Amino acid sequence: MNTSHRRSDAPRDLLIETHDLRRRAGQMLQMHRSAHAPADFGVDMIGVPENSAVDLDLRLESVIEGVLVTGTAEVTLTGECSRCLEPIEEESSFDFQELYFYSGQDAEEDAYRVSDEEEIDLEPVLREAVVLNLPFTPLCRRDCAGLCPDCGVNLNEHPDHDHGERIDPRWAALRDPRLKDLGTASAESGPDRS
Ligand SMILES: [Zn+2]
Ligand SMILES: [Zn+2]
Repeated sequence: MNTSHRRSDAPRDLLIETHDLRRRAGQMLQMHRSAHAPADFGVDMIGVPENSAVDLDLRLESVIEGVLVTGTAEVTLTGECSRCLEPIEEESSFDFQELYFYSGQDAEEDAYRVSDEEEIDLEPVLREAVVLNLPFTPLCRRDCAGLCPDCGVNLNEHPDHDHGERIDPRWAALRDPRLKDLGTASAESGPDRS
């Protein structure tokens, strides 16, 4: 990822000044920063809303090659449960660590860089830490029962919901006690209906 192509409308508060490290290896800065989420900070079903609060705890360490950034970002995720489609809103925190190289230091072409203005851009690192770790199928809760496939009723709210006669025949078979072991019957148990 090439940080020099940063969009000009990106929030400034994800740029962190590093000049207090004075390029002296061994120097360390710790800081807390309240920033704002950039646009498109999520996946289809869940993400961090644009401009919502991103609470950053950062440790910047000066090393020979550049600045090592270690941090935690606390965000509020909003989205939709992939089973019952109810809205989700939850606090979540993400850890990240990245080495930003000083210009002039040998590094791979797509490495992160400390800019000539002695700033580092946290946006791409945050994006990697947060967006790549979001669930593809977010759930409102681990055991979300989802929606009734027949009528769409929310089965979390109506746990006893069923359609009697219209029950899916695959499930009906499981409910018939005589057929209960049919699927798993094997030589060791054998048929026990005499
Ligand atoms: Zn759900
Ligand atoms: Zn139903």
